[in-house]
Amino acid sequence: MKRRNFLRTSLVGLSSPLILAKSRNMKINKNNPVVLSTWDFGLAANEKAIKVLNNGGGSMDAAEKAARHAEADPKNNSVGIGGLPDEKGIVTLDACVMDSTGNAGSVAFLQNIKHPVSVARKVMDDTKHVMLVGEGARQFAVSNGFKETNLLTDKSEKEWKKWLKNRREMTPHETHDTISVLVQDAKGDLSGACTTSGWAYKMHGRVGDSPIIGSALFVDNEVGSAAATGLGEEVIKTVGSFLVVEMMRQGYSPEEACKEALNRVIKLHNGNPDFQIGYIAMRKDGEVGAACLKWSFDYALFKNNKNKLHKIEGMLN
Ligand code: ASP
Repeated sequence: MKRRNFLRTSLVGLSSPLILAKSRNMKINKNNPVVLSTWDFGLAANEKAIKVLNNGGGSMDAAEKAARHAEADPKNNSVGIGGLPDEKGIVTLDACVMDSTGNAGSVAFLQNIKHPVSVARKVMDDTKHVMLVGEGARQFAVSNGFKETNLLTDKSEKEWKKWLKNRREMTPHETHDTISVLVQDAKGDLSGACTTSGWAYKMHGRVGDSPIIGSALFVDNEVGSAAATGLGEEVIKTVGSFLVVEMMRQGYSPEEACKEALNRVIKLHNGNPDFQIGYIAMRKDGEVGAACLKWSFDYALFKNNKNKLHKIEGMLN
């Protein structure tokens, strides 16, 4: 390994006193809530979070509300009801939440429940566990009052039947878009939520990054938070969101941290990955950043009382 590369890599593990001092001395952004979420449907979701924050709510309630908004929209074919199904025509959902105390909850391969993010929240709040999957997650949801619903809309069923004719493998960026939401409330506390129907026409049983704490979402209330969208398999293999937060701890800006996490992916794919990953990141001082591998990526940002959509170009364009 070249010396420079070695130093760069080893720096991550070092937590030098200087760097830690830097993140400890970071000014905390207070009384100026920030909401950051993935894709254009993040704008409407942000509005829901803002309402919660304006009513004095905390970052976890706000992030959950935002994610629920995307889950309830049947026109959104990558989250919640109306999400494209797996190869068997079954909609299976993944979601997770993480709050400012470092607590987390998640559900994976959940079926027939419209709001997986709230089931993940229940797992976090009411159980000793972090993650429930499949039938167990469904039973847990039902026993906690969640209603069962058919999540396959006519439109998604039609699309699936069309796909069945030649079963062409969808490249993930063609069909999927997860909502990940990062919130900093008036107290300066950070929380996040992530929810998706995942890769369209995936193998039955496939679980992506979205319910995996550290991959699709990570929150460290001392440093910052990060979240992912895109090809979950590659986010899992590089533990993306955790890495982004750790890079911010080392002094990287939110945008540089997102780019550094993507550099790892680029390297693993010999400089030429043919898929998309997008990261969003929020630092404790209220700074935000984002980056994506290819093509373009939209994120919705509420800051200084304005809710706006931002478009960024891929690092490899
Ligand atoms: N990351 C999600 C998954 O792999 C999908 C996406 O964000 O597009 O399931």
